[in-house]
Amino acid sequence: MAPVAITPISPPSPTLDDTSKLTKAGTQTILSETVSNSSPAVADLDASKLIFTPNLNPKSVPAPNSPEVWSQNYTTDHMLTARWTEQSGWEAPEIRPYGPLSIMPTASVLHYATECFEGLKAYRGADGKARLFRPDRNARRFLQSATRISLPGFPPEEFLKLLKKFVGTEAPKWIPEPGQFIYIRPTMIATAPALGVQKPREALLYIMMVLFPPLDEPSPAAAVPKSLPAPSTQTPTQETKRPAAGMRLLASSHDMIRAWPGGFGNAKVGANYGPSLVAQGEARSRGYDQILWLFGDECFVTEAGGSNFFVLWKTPEGRLELVTAPLGDGVILEGVTRASVLDLVRRTRPDIDVVERKFTMQELLKAADEGRLLEAFGAGTAFFIAPCSDIHFRGVDLVLPLGKGVLADFAMGIKKTLKDIMYGNEQHEWGVVVEEEKL
Ligand SMILES: *Cc1c(COP(=O)(O)O)cnc(C)c1O
Repeated sequence: MAPVAITPISPPSPTLDDTSKLTKAGTQTILSETVSNSSPAVADLDASKLIFTPNLNPKSVPAPNSPEVWSQNYTTDHMLTARWTEQSGWEAPEIRPYGPLSIMPTASVLHYATECFEGLKAYRGADGKARLFRPDRNARRFLQSATRISLPGFPPEEFLKLLKKFVGTEAPKWIPEPGQFIYIRPTMIATAPALGVQKPREALLYIMMVLFPPLDEPSPAAAVPKSLPAPSTQTPTQETKRPAAGMRLLASSHDMIRAWPGGFGNAKVGANYGPSLVAQGEARSRGYDQILWLFGDECFVTEAGGSNFFVLWKTPEGRLELVTAPLGDGVILEGVTRASVLDLVRRTRPDIDVVERKFTMQELLKAADEGRLLEAFGAGTAFFIAPCSDIHFRGVDLVLPLGKGVLADFAMGIKKTLKDIMYGNEQHEWGVVVEEEKL
């Protein structure tokens, strides 16, 4: 693929940018509001103040595909932290040894879910360089999520600088070999010790890095549950092994919804996740990988677990169409992967109509019945591009062509293109090289 500009070709649909101040000007508004609410003397987040305290007891790096990697709880040697208070603003950020946080039992986050997070990966390229994938988008979304739950604002570009610094210190040791990647989890919590329900007066921003198994590739040696962390002591067994076929989805039941218009489904906040675990647990116990979240009596298809959801089908008129749920009503999370899939297909496949609109389970069933349903896939950082083999919808089994042995060439093509950018096989502005510092 030739390098291409990232300006979208089609007119932008109503996006989060319209509704929640995510435009550049909006970001400035949020920041000035944040600042003007406090004393004029408060400090902004400032990457140039970064302090580094090395870990004097560094860990060993576990082997690829080992149980430690599958446990999804093996962190690198350091974390980055930055404290904020209403009085003084952001204190100097610090990279320091990874370890427990100290917060009071009364801390706001422990009672009122004043928490937001991000998820991205650092990739070791074929050319030996470490890259992030469109991290500016994560920085913006992090700010937007924080703002939604009254956590303090920050200049996204300063956050991005800190993120790069942190990745730059950890990457040489933790992702040394081409093809390796590691998961990065920026988090913000309200820490003020007071039970009164009020806007956070103290907060902590922190970033950690966790070894992560290749969830998008069934591993020959250790295929295990794809989303729930396996107990670290348990070696993956044959029993938990899944066929390589594809993601199996269980449509949510009518009495459980993930998000609603005017809610916070479009913010990456912990409050979206805790209450979804009952449904997720049921999916897993019934042999499915993820919940396909439906909305409303019409059974609109929204997202699949922590991934956005795409369908490739033929319209009744015979046009090829890629469809995904729209952003306007705030019911889905605006994924970086989602935006990238949309951009990519719009630019490279004039034969496919790319549509962001509401679509229903009934439409999916009808298309399947009429032989028009070609592919469906989840798109997100954790599971990357995950082709779907079947969907169980309230007593009906919808089997996609993949479930009948037809390879998901379209989804796999997108996956390869994105992967080439992430690992630097394709020089592209979405792949952002990180400067590294050997400790
Ligand atoms: C994080 C997330 C996604 C995927 O977003 P990416 O930026 O592509 O990783 C999709 N849906 C939900 C609910 C999420 O939390």
